[in-house]
Amino acid sequence: MGNITLTMVKPTAYKKGYAANILAKITDAGFRIQAMKTLRLSKAQAEKFYEVHIERPFYGELTEFMSSGPIVAAVLEKNNAVEDYRKLIGATNPKDAEEGTIRKLYASNIQENAVHGSDSDENAEIEASFFFAKNERFNNEGGLV
Ligand code: GDP
Repeated sequence: MGNITLTMVKPTAYKKGYAANILAKITDAGFRIQAMKTLRLSKAQAEKFYEVHIERPFYGELTEFMSSGPIVAAVLEKNNAVEDYRKLIGATNPKDAEEGTIRKLYASNIQENAVHGSDSDENAEIEASFFFAKNERFNNEGGLV
């Protein structure tokens, strides 16, 4: 059981001004923020991040979208972080997401679905390293993780 996951507030949700409400839901649910930044991915960076989806028909559209505007990226810490965060965000398609989940509340459609959440402990570490250097992640005492 890993204790971190990587999230992004995706461009549409950021543009609509939902980032603060989304982060409040995250911390209310017991996640601690180890690291956080606002940035805009280049197309090449989005392609790298979503490399595992390269064969999927929506890869081009998805990477175009993810590089279309600013996002918030954050490393979240909690016991069982990956599984608990996926429960909090809800299904990929907001039409299938349960009431009260972040995607149900803030997603526009299956692609512009408000947030990303890592799908495994291994990918959480890879994705955290994609956005953050070791000296940008902090523990609860204010030291480096
Ligand atoms: P996740 O783990 O719930 O984010 O879902 P996936 O790993 O299956 O897909 C990655 C991301 O691709 C999703 O979060 C969506 O932004 C996007 N996506 C997934 N399915 C579709 C689809 O059928 N069409 C489009 N346009 N985008 C999709």
